[in-house]
Amino acid sequence: MRPRWRRAVLKLSGELLGGEKGPLDERGLVFFAQEIREAHKAGVELAVVPGGGNIARGASLPHIPQTAGHAIGMLATLINGLALREALFQAGVPSLLMSAIPCAGVAEPVDPWRAREALGEGKVVLLSAGTGSPFVTTDTAAVIRALALQAEVVLKGSKVPGVYPADPKAVPGAQPLPRISHKEYLARGLRVMDLAAVSIAGEHRLPIFVFRADRPGGLLSALQGEEGSLIG
Ligand code: UDP
Repeated sequence: MRPRWRRAVLKLSGELLGGEKGPLDERGLVFFAQEIREAHKAGVELAVVPGGGNIARGASLPHIPQTAGHAIGMLATLINGLALREALFQAGVPSLLMSAIPCAGVAEPVDPWRAREALGEGKVVLLSAGTGSPFVTTDTAAVIRALALQAEVVLKGSKVPGVYPADPKAVPGAQPLPRISHKEYLARGLRVMDLAAVSIAGEHRLPIFVFRADRPGGLLSALQGEEGSLIG
């Protein structure tokens, strides 16, 4: 297989990791460890930004003031990062876990230079705790980490197969768009990737590829630029 991109940041929503058995369903973790292993075997340098929505999102905790709620959400992504690191270890994939919220003894602090070095050494780098700042999401973290790591693309793993021109539930039969510019995406106010993230990516001409991640081989297809939507 010939990857279209050699260095990529994969954003994995928390909801992809959760399942019937709870927020850290073994099936989801094993599945994504296998998907990542295939990409790693194909020689792609991969950093992964886990989401945290399977455990907590700041905006869904209205009884908790937002600064604390978002911190809880960021820590949720660290929990996912820890679980993913173990799943990768079991799958024989070397990895390095970094956290934007210091957590000595558990994860290294986020350091783009160290992360680039680790990618060059053949490690998958897990970048947890989002940006380390409240009021944004891990979509924005994936974009700014991709810029800092000089990655060629953000791969946005989703449960839907791409960017729809309108809500497919509201417009039955709607098909995902093969390609849309950052500007057009923002003008239409589309939702699959956060507007703040697409805005920063657009300023830096960083492409985002939205693809369905919960089917076997989905990540490898995405790395070939197939079966998904390109924002760029
Ligand atoms: N979050 C944050 N800053 C960040 C990234 C995440 O405050 O840089 C918080 C925010 O509350 C967010 C939650 O962590 O809702 C979990 O992340 P996200 O919603 O992106 O997870 P996903 O929906 O992708 O699983």
